[in-house]
Amino acid sequence: MRTVYLDNNATTAVAPEVLQAMLPFFRERYGNPSSMHAFGGDVARDIEQARERLATLLGAEHSSEILFTSCGTESDNTAILSTLDAYPERKQVLTTRVEHPAVLSLAKHLERKGYEVVRIGVDRDGNLDMVELREALSPHTAIVSVMWANNETGVIFPVEEIARMAHEVGALFHTDAVQAVGKIPLDMRKSGIDLLALSGHKLHAPKGVGALYVRRGTKFRPFVIGGHQERNRRGGTENVPGIVALGMAAELARAHVRDEQTRVRALRDKLENGLLERVPDTIVNGGRERRLPNTTNVSFEFVEGEAILLLMDRAGICASSGSACTSGSLEPSHVLRAMGVPFTFAHGSVRFSLSRYNTDEDVDHVLRELPPIIARLREISPFSREHPVPDGPTTCPTSCAAKS
Ligand code: PLP
Repeated sequence: MRTVYLDNNATTAVAPEVLQAMLPFFRERYGNPSSMHAFGGDVARDIEQARERLATLLGAEHSSEILFTSCGTESDNTAILSTLDAYPERKQVLTTRVEHPAVLSLAKHLERKGYEVVRIGVDRDGNLDMVELREALSPHTAIVSVMWANNETGVIFPVEEIARMAHEVGALFHTDAVQAVGKIPLDMRKSGIDLLALSGHKLHAPKGVGALYVRRGTKFRPFVIGGHQERNRRGGTENVPGIVALGMAAELARAHVRDEQTRVRALRDKLENGLLERVPDTIVNGGRERRLPNTTNVSFEFVEGEAILLLMDRAGICASSGSACTSGSLEPSHVLRAMGVPFTFAHGSVRFSLSRYNTDEDVDHVLRELPPIIARLREISPFSREHPVPDGPTTCPTSCAAKS
């Protein structure tokens, strides 16, 4: 059976060119870049080439502004913890209610440590409340952390404007750009962003490598403390194959970013419009204008997202649901809740995220398979317009396993 992979915001396939680029660093060129001998030392040049490639993709002024890490989560954590360490007199962190757990869980941890955390809300379209943000900024703000694009809805935030606002009170600005990099053009030379996190496995490099952009002159304190690697900014022997892979992935992303804006966007729109036309009582979550070209979050009223995923899986379609079914109760995602998506829609949400490897045939397959799945689930759903769901969390109507 064909597999149609539409879960690229979760992770992506390693590009063949990326795999080719990294392979020699396992068996032939496995030296440690910190070694005195050329066998190891030469590898340091490959790391620098990867750094330059990534800097070019981001439009960074200097390649030394790029610091390699193990993943997006480490990059986000490093950015925030470094800033709090560098500005001990500032005890406030400003973020949003729709960040990834890489930021939100850290924010909760910081609260327990005595920091004040302000989480800015969003409107029904997923756009940030800029008035609330402005009012929350103060001379106590150490860092403002706002994602460039939301992983569930694809909604893009005005990060450059927010960076300017943060600077007005002397705070640093960090953006989690894990979902934005490679999908939309970025230019760090023109932006006032101080710290930017990205992750390899979201842009056709393997899992286990990420990067943090640190604008030159930004006060920085290492998070992973150890050896002198990464100019004393992150201890630990470098993941050379991963870093080389990320460099190659950055090179490819630069070549493909136009394709994302045109071909991938057209495929996403065909899928989205096709579902809206074929399935009644269906909505798109998040404003459709300022959005990643590859993402659509669709809600089917009166059906449960996990059940849709299960049946789609049987039809060879991989996507994600916006509800997490844990311990017998259904909680819609924090993002959809923050947006105020009605209960009956929030539970039936599915995120489709495309990549450069998706085709017209993939979209046709979903448009053929999914409408009858929704119709079937609606027939057996205990809820309908005549029998609406009671307000608040309810018992899981289907048996579903806890989501990690
Ligand atoms: N930030 C966002 C917006 C994400 O979507 C993800 C992963 O889904 C992360 C951070 C975490 O990245 P990683 O899996 O590389 O730690």
